[in-house]
Amino acid sequence: MAESAHRVTLIPGDGIGPEVTEATVIALEATGVVFEWDRQRAGAAAHEREGEALPGGVIASIRERGVALKGPIATPTGVGYRSVNLALRRELGLYVGIRPCRAIEGVHTAFPRTDIVVVRMLREDLYEGIEYAPGAEDTAALRAVLEETRGARAAADAGFTIKPLSRSESARVARRAFEYAVENGRSRVTAVHKATVMRHTDGLFLEGAREVAEEFPGIDYDERLVDNACGSLVSRPEAFDVLLLPMLYGDIASDIGAGLIGGLGLAPGVNLGDDCAVFEPVHGSAPRLAGRNVANPLAMILTGEMLLRRIGEGEAADRLAEAVAAVVREGRHLSYDLTPSRGESSASATSEVAEAVAARLHS
Ligand code: NAD
Repeated sequence: MAESAHRVTLIPGDGIGPEVTEATVIALEATGVVFEWDRQRAGAAAHEREGEALPGGVIASIRERGVALKGPIATPTGVGYRSVNLALRRELGLYVGIRPCRAIEGVHTAFPRTDIVVVRMLREDLYEGIEYAPGAEDTAALRAVLEETRGARAAADAGFTIKPLSRSESARVARRAFEYAVENGRSRVTAVHKATVMRHTDGLFLEGAREVAEEFPGIDYDERLVDNACGSLVSRPEAFDVLLLPMLYGDIASDIGAGLIGGLGLAPGVNLGDDCAVFEPVHGSAPRLAGRNVANPLAMILTGEMLLRRIGEGEAADRLAEAVAAVVREGRHLSYDLTPSRGESSASATSEVAEAVAARLHS
């Protein structure tokens, strides 16, 4: 192995994960950058073979290398094991998700000028998992407190989900959004909130964002209500640059962003902590497409482009982005989701798209 090889943990994941991961390895290696992949199994395959969905070696590998390229991992419904994605975030201290949504020329979309970046919290908010089931004993205790201290009366059959959100966590995430803006030549960060209603959660989110905004006088800062922002996103996305959001709004905005640029098959992402970066596309394991060599690998290949920038290979990242753009523009090797009819029969296979990108890089 060459001395300059970049040591990266590789997690193919579930469903279409192994196929789009393989395609991405082909495209990344075609840039000429040398990798030493540490392949790790996590998710359903790991659970089947090793009895654990997230074997300890996975976390150790990412901690040691600091960078991972990860395919989607299915979250089983009902019994089985808990969400591997959640466990990875917690164990590795990943607290901010960055999801660029940039329209590529040649993809059919009503919004070809879309070029936004969704930066969202990965901790706190309504996804923290603090839930009270209707009728449960602890729910009765919570209801009693709410009634006693607030005079609040919820329906007898109501459940509760608690939304914790702190100024400190908001500021920590906001700092990464502003740093991203500086590093990537972006000019504005827009905080998205509903502080008019949720003063003690979204209000703190804004306080944290404002505090950090003052440290970055070169980047414009503004604020939008979440309902208003979603409306504008689906009518005039070019009005936005970097969006900073708590977890739930961020989840919704990034799927809107993916829709604006032509679908999940084109949406890359990364989850960051202070020491580790886990690069993964926005999409899930798409079980309907698994094992059929039909999924679009470009979301994961563009995720690979983000990874290249992180490891200091910006020039290779530019070439990879250009190769993807050229393949899409040319339109001869597109997966089914990018064809006008969305039909699988006239579309290219996952592996063919990867080979077309690699061929561009070699030419
Ligand atoms: P999904 O993203 O897997 O699929 C949503 C839709 O998009 C489907 O119609 C699918 O066919 C299509 N799609 C997704 N990726 C595509 C691609 N690369 N090319 C073409 N079409 C693509 O979302 P889902 O169905 O809600 O979730 C399936 C599983 O994935 C669930 O178990 C979920 O928990 C998991 N999931 C994992 C991650 C992750 O690991 N980061 C993210 C989201 C969902």
